Amino acid sequence: MGLDVRTIMVMFAMMAFMFFCLFELAGLRVGRIRGVRQWAVANLCIGLGFSLAYFFGRTTPGHDWAVVFGVTLIATGTCLQLIGIQAFKEQPTHWGLAVLFIGVIFCQSIWFNVVNPDFHLRAIVNSFFFFFIYVVCARVLLVKTEVSLRVSYWFTGISFVILALLMVARAVIIIRSPDEAIGLHVNTAINALPFVIGCLLQFCVAFGLLLMLNHRLIADVYQMASHDALTGTLNRRRIEEESVRLKARCVRTGESLAIMMIDIDFFKSINDRFGHPAGDKVLCSLANIAQKSIRADDYFARYGGEEFCMLLTATTENEAFELAERLRLAFAEFSLMLGKERINVTVSIGVADSKEIGLEFSDLVTAADQALYRAKQNGRNQVIAYSSMPVDDTL
Ligand code: GH3
Ligand code: MG
Ligand code: MG
Repeated sequence: MGLDVRTIMVMFAMMAFMFFCLFELAGLRVGRIRGVRQWAVANLCIGLGFSLAYFFGRTTPGHDWAVVFGVTLIATGTCLQLIGIQAFKEQPTHWGLAVLFIGVIFCQSIWFNVVNPDFHLRAIVNSFFFFFIYVVCARVLLVKTEVSLRVSYWFTGISFVILALLMVARAVIIIRSPDEAIGLHVNTAINALPFVIGCLLQFCVAFGLLLMLNHRLIADVYQMASHDALTGTLNRRRIEEESVRLKARCVRTGESLAIMMIDIDFFKSINDRFGHPAGDKVLCSLANIAQKSIRADDYFARYGGEEFCMLLTATTENEAFELAERLRLAFAEFSLMLGKERINVTVSIGVADSKEIGLEFSDLVTAADQALYRAKQNGRNQVIAYSSMPVDDTL
């Protein structure tokens, strides 16, 4: 095989510089996402490290210090990748471990390059330490992953696992090879292959980190598009999406789907009397109370203005009525203190279920809205079930 170790290293260094620029540019538009700047600097360090260590080191006698600083820069880059991943995942960062790792690599590099030159031992010890740091990176990526980012975490994490295994293989190869067959200046497959594979895996890591960033941005956009900015609940668009899924589930299982439309009574007068910010606080408090009362399978959304919608799986109209009554009482007991003023609110609620209406979301909303309208007409602060309404008033 005509692979030249030095050429591989220089090409890899150039690619690392390219990734540095790419991460720097990506970092300009990532908003509150953390870790991207660390990945940019990590690639800069790795690129500089490979340039120093393998372009000047050993191939030209008398440049052992270039290897020392080169390997230390590569170690710094790897630690920054780790710190960046932890920051990205919003976990505590292991700065102590990073400083210790860089220090150990620096000291052992001085020992095996300058004080007591021994390529065999240097390569084995380096492989061991890099095996350790790659395992730590893989662990951080593969444990506690968000569902929406799982594929990219796994891709990057597995790249680190293979890098760690490569370090073990490299150490074994070096232990079993004679002195004259190993070294960065010897162009044999046993020297070149681990570097080629290592470089490809480092590309995979860089691509994986970019993929993670891409998936996080998509997840953030989806979160914004499906949640209400004020109350943090689902929005109308999302509950409509969920209703399609729930309809399919109910058709499959034969379960009943119940709906609840909740509207705050005389909300306009709260705004008029106490101001819009106070009105906003009332909306958030009510959303909070309702959110706590639902099960994991149910959906609660702000349908628009001061109107909320709840979809309850495997629930009949009677059961929904009971929950609605509990909610109505909870809202009536709740009061928001605004300075010395106490704001009390009540809600009117209309309920319906699919046994009566069918599983079409728009039909369920219309039915629950009619029941809600009746509750308003009857004097507010009450729950009305669609099935209890006189036939003339219904759909
Ligand atoms: P009713 O008992 O008949 O429901 O009377 P209401 O005053 O609650 O109903 P109306 O439809 O007359 O008024 C709704 C008000 O909700 C008007 C609008 O300014 C207010 N509103 C809608 N969205 C928001 C919001 O995001 N924040 C605040 N503070 N007010 C909002
Ligand atoms: Mg209202
Ligand atoms: Mg309304």
